[in-house]
Amino acid sequence: CGITGYVGPRPGVRTVIEMLRRLEYRGYDSAGVAVASEGDVQIVKAAGKLAVLESQLQDHWETHGASIAHTRWATHGGPTTPNAHPHFSHDGKIALIHNGIIENYQELRAELLAEGFVFASETDTEVMVHLVDRAFRKLGGMEAAIREALTLVTGAYSIAVCASHEPETLYCAKTASPLILGLGEGENFLASDIPAVMRYTRRVVVLEDGDFAKLTPEGVTLTSLTGAAIHREPFQVTWDE
Ligand code: GLU
Repeated sequence: CGITGYVGPRPGVRTVIEMLRRLEYRGYDSAGVAVASEGDVQIVKAAGKLAVLESQLQDHWETHGASIAHTRWATHGGPTTPNAHPHFSHDGKIALIHNGIIENYQELRAELLAEGFVFASETDTEVMVHLVDRAFRKLGGMEAAIREALTLVTGAYSIAVCASHEPETLYCAKTASPLILGLGEGENFLASDIPAVMRYTRRVVVLEDGDFAKLTPEGVTLTSLTGAAIHREPFQVTWDE
């Protein structure tokens, strides 16, 4: 139900959790966080309130690397820890968070199971991370892999992805669920809603349906799902928190 993401010099886990607190008003039943490094992606998730997740983050709090965090409002699969996001590829190198509903997940899940993919949750979301993983093995690049995965899903989504293949990069995309970017100096942010980024930056881009973004500390590249360049003027948030 809430998504946050950060790339830059701040401790990633701390930053995305602080951002997520600004989205608690949206309601949720579980929460989780992922941080990318060269070798793998570390993931911690927990059913219940953010405080439960935070109590498990002592060793991770100051970890650096592209980070994503999520509060879940369960639609498919109960509010359990395995069903909490982020979901991850079998090799633990790709993590994905999602708000919305993937309508054709049953067909995709059956197809992936037949190909030998192992599922760790009952969610509609998990098919997406395995689709990205499968496409990454075929295409060899994260951006192309995420684009290919998104051509296969129908429904509503805002997603964010981090991977050990590119530990200083985040990817995100949206169709029929909200997503915004916060533009910083040497750092960049993504979130479901503006309050999550306001204490860090007031330069915000509101994404539209079909937008796909790549975030690094140095900048943001915005394209359509098929890769055509898009320009959206950032606006300055002038109201107070
Ligand atoms: N449909 C997904 C799930 O049940 C995402 C729910 C949400 O938007 O929080 O895991």
